[in-house]
Amino acid sequence: MKITGEMLIGASAVRGTDATLRAFDPARNADLEPAFGGGGAAEVARACELADAAFDDYRHAPLETRAQFLEAIADNIIALGDTLIERAMAESALPKARLEGERARTVGQLRLFASLVREGRWLCATLDSAQPDRKPLPRSDLRLQKIPLGPVVVFGASNFPLAFSVAGGDTASALAAGCPVIVKSHPAHLGTSELVGRAVQKAVADSGLPEGVFSLIVGAGNAIGEALVAHPAVQAVGFTGSRRGGLALVDIAAKRPVPIPVFAEMSSVNPVFALPGALAARGDTLASGYIDSVTLGVGQFCTNPGLVIGLEEADLDDFIDNAAAALEKKDVQTMLTAGIASAYADGVRQRDGAAKRIATGKKGAKGETSGGALPALYRVSAEEFLARPQLAEEIFGPTSVIVVCRDEDEMIAVARSLEGQLTATLLMEPDDVELARRLLPVLERKVGRILANGFPTGVEVSYAMVHGGPYPATSDSRSTSVGAMAIERFLRPVCYQDLPAALLPEALADDNPLLLWRLRDGQLGPN
Ligand code: NAP
Repeated sequence: MKITGEMLIGASAVRGTDATLRAFDPARNADLEPAFGGGGAAEVARACELADAAFDDYRHAPLETRAQFLEAIADNIIALGDTLIERAMAESALPKARLEGERARTVGQLRLFASLVREGRWLCATLDSAQPDRKPLPRSDLRLQKIPLGPVVVFGASNFPLAFSVAGGDTASALAAGCPVIVKSHPAHLGTSELVGRAVQKAVADSGLPEGVFSLIVGAGNAIGEALVAHPAVQAVGFTGSRRGGLALVDIAAKRPVPIPVFAEMSSVNPVFALPGALAARGDTLASGYIDSVTLGVGQFCTNPGLVIGLEEADLDDFIDNAAAALEKKDVQTMLTAGIASAYADGVRQRDGAAKRIATGKKGAKGETSGGALPALYRVSAEEFLARPQLAEEIFGPTSVIVVCRDEDEMIAVARSLEGQLTATLLMEPDDVELARRLLPVLERKVGRILANGFPTGVEVSYAMVHGGPYPATSDSRSTSVGAMAIERFLRPVCYQDLPAALLPEALADDNPLLLWRLRDGQLGPN
């Protein structure tokens, strides 16, 4: 399939005339063909109006049609073959195996949501029978189901050009909920976005769905994203990216005449608590596992372990020495974009003024670091850490801070001082259980996922996954952006009181024609 540089607005391909954008190959330091035409207010309005017009037909289409549509998107992405992988490699500098894995994750995610749509538990179909003889007052017939919010705008992430982008988790969960989606193309992977966008556009047509179910908008600068969030037809936003970008969109959404929710996943340092028993038993393997996790994908993961917290003792010193030695073997690597690379360089420079750097990765063959990220490891005392809040801030890239605590109370104080996080990890052995038990209630209040004896990079797409957490990990801690529960973000409950059978939605009909599991008079089952 050829990349044309056009936007996809409903069933049409449209060349924007408001700006010219180019994709960029960060590994070769060169622009990529073709030029993309950036859109403006007219294209935003057209996409939003089409989405609004499509909403009722799409949400009322049979669940089987919706499920098959999601599967068709997955099939169409696979059919793009190496063209997609090669373009994504050129635009991101990510290796082939990583992008093939990400493609598998993307189609697996779409298929998970297809099976979720068919199963229908997300509808939360609930029936409370009328009690006409109840004293002192009779009870009405009450029935509840969840319905989709309406058109959703999705901002893809730079660090996952497939799995968190045009047909990634936000799009898949919003489409599964019954919401039309308008994606704002990420400027770092314009060609990848167009290819995937065309795969979605074809699935819309082949499934006989209204064209406004999907659009892909391209634009230069923040204005196009701001206009999308401000458009009255838009009812929710999914975002993955920087704290500044996420907060800007939250602000626009809150100031609209009709405010809407923004589900923004933003920043996290993912603390790892290295407990004494674990360090005594296997400190050396933990050190190499930790550094592998810090440097995986050039550290460009929202679950990168940016902080390790341990107790001052010989085993922690050994762990630190081993981690430093492992990091010194890691090479400088090209980052996703020049902007991310320069933000990393700035962040590390500032950190050098606030903490002791104990190890640095290997420079390139000519001693060069330009366009790349040189891994860096820091050590601070808990006292210093608590006095310098900037040490707890995310630096997107292969760097991490080890915090040395005098005693358990200081470790708990460090845990209490942290902002909201996507994950927290306990490296532990059975003899660490008492300390872990003290940390757990603190961590539950701070994070979306608590791991024991693993590293947080690697987020399973499954029913029980939570990839969320209190601010600033996300702008709304009540859901997740990965896993089946992500659908909840784009649904709301409606109660039907005493409606005649002729008007009831199928999910709530007496004879349960959709064979759903429903909560009927307090009993859960296929009733
Ligand atoms: P970003 O700069 O926040 O951009 C993400 C998307 O939002 C882009 O499409 C961007 O497009 C748009 N956007 C950003 N600010 C906006 C605003 N004020 N108004 C309207 N639209 C806006 O994130 P990024 O490009 O992915 O990476 C930059 C930094 O984000 C990284 O260095 C890292 O710190 C952070 N990041 C964090 C995570 C995470 O999961 N925690 C993931 C990826 C990146 P335009 O620029 O065209 O407006």
